Amino acid sequence: MKDLLYDPNNIFAKIIRGEIPCKKLDECPHTLTFFDINPQAPIHVLIIPKGSYVDMNDFSSRASIEEQAAFIAAIGRAAKLTGAFEGGYRIISNVGGFGHQEVPHLHAHLLGGESIGPIRSR
Ligand code: 5GP
Repeated sequence: MKDLLYDPNNIFAKIIRGEIPCKKLDECPHTLTFFDINPQAPIHVLIIPKGSYVDMNDFSSRASIEEQAAFIAAIGRAAKLTGAFEGGYRIISNVGGFGHQEVPHLHAHLLGGESIGPIRSR
């Protein structure tokens, strides 16, 4: 596996440090959840760990079990707090080049509020 170097100046690191604003939905000691700036569905929030992890490869390798559990719990809370829980939703975490990840800090997208369509377009 490629060595992952975390860039502390990525946009989500700046949001965690409070250097740029976000529309916050939820927070716990290990996670932050906020609304995506360019929503792709009526409900589109991003769940991120507060620790410095590039992506799911990095997080699953290095994060403590407590951080990993908190991340999953935050996704569950986001589904309930947004109302996506009722109708259904999709969780996506893009990784690297093939995954088209743009921001190099682990994040899960939660999309809902309408049918999210097929798993991928071809
Ligand atoms: P990725 O392609 O890395 O999985 O998704 C990055 C997401 O971050 C995109 O959906 C994009 O709209 C969102 N995003 C990028 N910059 C900002 C920002 O400054 N604030 C918020 N709230 N979302 C952002």
